[in-house]
Amino acid sequence: MKKTALYPGSFDPITKGHIDIIRRSADLFDKLIIGIFKNSSKSKSWFTEEERAEMIKKILEKENIKAEIKIFNGLLVDFMFKENVDILIRGLRALSDYEYELQFALTNSALAKNDFETVFLTASREYLYLSSSLVKEIALNEGELGIFVPKLVEEELRKKVKEIKHNR
Ligand code: ADP
Repeated sequence: MKKTALYPGSFDPITKGHIDIIRRSADLFDKLIIGIFKNSSKSKSWFTEEERAEMIKKILEKENIKAEIKIFNGLLVDFMFKENVDILIRGLRALSDYEYELQFALTNSALAKNDFETVFLTASREYLYLSSSLVKEIALNEGELGIFVPKLVEEELRKKVKEIKHNR
């Protein structure tokens, strides 16, 4: 039976850590959907969902990775049923992710009445401490971004920082 996996996140913006998880998931499952959370409870985002989707689309094309990109709001489980998702993918970085990710997985599994599995992929060593928030912090302070995000994301971040500083 073909397996459809969903990798949900805010991807604000996508980092090399996310891309690593995406590439590995695309190799593991028959179909991969990258789900961009709308109205996530996280602090204010820098990029609109459409801007995030556009960046991801360009990266997938460039890296030759086959995956669908979808923006969703509401409950994750409702989206999973709608898209016939069998597996939820999450990335695990340092120990600090564990508590939150376990809560996330168990809550969704309870809401879905155990209808799907969550698969955790461990972050690769070089991206273990990489997060979108860290990347934004580096961008604000005009630090080097090339090790953490692809060139096109770096350019979008630089543009955003200019806007933010201009509007202050
Ligand atoms: P962030 O926590 O950086 O804002 P997201 O909410 O977009 O990222 O995260 C989506 C999923 O990707 C989560 O399961 C998160 O743990 C995982 N993830 C984020 N950054 C990395 C990374 N550097 N390596 C592996 N997994 C990651």
